Amino acid sequence: ATASAAPAAQRTTAEWQAADAAHHLHPFTDFKALAGRGTRVITRGDGIYLWDSEGQRILDAMSGLWCVNVGYGQRALIDAATRQLETLPFYNSFFQTTTPPAIQLAERLAEVAPPSFQHVFFSSSGSEGNDTIVRMVRRYWDIQGQPNRQVIISRLNAYHGSTMAGASLGGMSGMHAQGGLPIPGISHIEQPFWFQLGQGMDREDFGRRAAAWLEARIVQLGADKVAAFIGEPVQGAGGVIVPPASYWPEIRRICDKYGILLVSDEVICGFGRTGRWFGCETMGVTPDLMTFAKGVTSGYVPLGGVMVGERVARALIDEGGEFQHGYTYSGHPVACAVALANLELIRGEGLVERVREDTGPYLARLFDELSAHPLVGEVQTCGLMGAIQLVRDKASSTVFDPEQSVGMLCRAHCFENGLIMRAVGDRMIVAPPLVITRAQLDEMAGLIRLCLDKTLAELGQRGWL
Ligand code: PMP
Repeated sequence: ATASAAPAAQRTTAEWQAADAAHHLHPFTDFKALAGRGTRVITRGDGIYLWDSEGQRILDAMSGLWCVNVGYGQRALIDAATRQLETLPFYNSFFQTTTPPAIQLAERLAEVAPPSFQHVFFSSSGSEGNDTIVRMVRRYWDIQGQPNRQVIISRLNAYHGSTMAGASLGGMSGMHAQGGLPIPGISHIEQPFWFQLGQGMDREDFGRRAAAWLEARIVQLGADKVAAFIGEPVQGAGGVIVPPASYWPEIRRICDKYGILLVSDEVICGFGRTGRWFGCETMGVTPDLMTFAKGVTSGYVPLGGVMVGERVARALIDEGGEFQHGYTYSGHPVACAVALANLELIRGEGLVERVREDTGPYLARLFDELSAHPLVGEVQTCGLMGAIQLVRDKASSTVFDPEQSVGMLCRAHCFENGLIMRAVGDRMIVAPPLVITRAQLDEMAGLIRLCLDKTLAELGQRGWL
């Protein structure tokens, strides 16, 4: 109530930080620690670059939070939002009503998704999409007369959101430790993370072994208790963990063997990130349901949802009666209008093909060169997502003591040098906007190398090598 009336441009960074510390609780943040340090204030974006309140330019190699796939400042998205705000800023889809953008987007999504996906249920975020998944798969089995099929199997180190169901599906122990999670009926198996769990094994053999953990859990629980398996095609927040090629086809085979629904969480991998419209296509499988969010609007406005394959859609539509679930903003017309413009831009610019045939392979080449760096134990890429695993000893793949937080140290060098690269433990990850050019990828790789060198020098000075 005492907020300063000063326009944005007139506040100094210190003033922004003081107001932020006084009133704003950030997601996934130690509030007191941040208040002591001061937040960074991002004020403007254009293309793949951001500017902060100090005027520093930053190359955003994380596309915001894996979402700004078409980059900042796209006129077509801005105009679509403006037009829709002027025409009809809101109406709902509850009361036997809906709006033209919601209908058109549903139609458009059915076109870009694999052919077995003809229906969509809208939410505003990935977390809400996954809450919808939990209710929908359990409802599906009720309709099938198998109400005991309740359990959803997920994976350790998965990320599926921060709502009660989303965080429960996720496999982050820190999140489960707060708020009485997971909710009942969620079971976690190990992840297909070769660097951590498969060293010394052939990668494809390891992929099959990791998939066999699913079968073992199904047998242990009893197939008649299991509703679905959910996974990200490439684990994103877990550290850009690209599974061996053998993994997903084997997962699909096992789900089919026991009649279990397969859910692909496409919140990060959807809309071109891996070089196909959806990550499951890159992995060579067709799931029964797909969660999406982020890239559907390139993050310009919130939108998410669930693509419902025919197996589940037919049951819900033909035999389900009323599905008692929905959000005020399911099918929000402004969000849907922006999504339509975004999908049109992705198609018009050929961004999916560009990632698959040009920039994705080019990123792979650049990362391959970085893998020679003394700090780097392994690199992985898939389309325009990449991971650099930092190690203390390259020859033996020996990792650093987690207490040393070497990833955070590296991330600080990135921030200082105008690059946003994220640290997941000691795994440095990137997912740049899909509009990034080869020259900009060169610039990004140059900054990464500089920051790896600076990190190496600092580790040497600290005597940590
Ligand atoms: N699923 C995946 C795979 C995600 O990466 C995320 C967010 N990073 C979510 C779900 C949750 O999405 P949101 O933050 O929009 O709720």
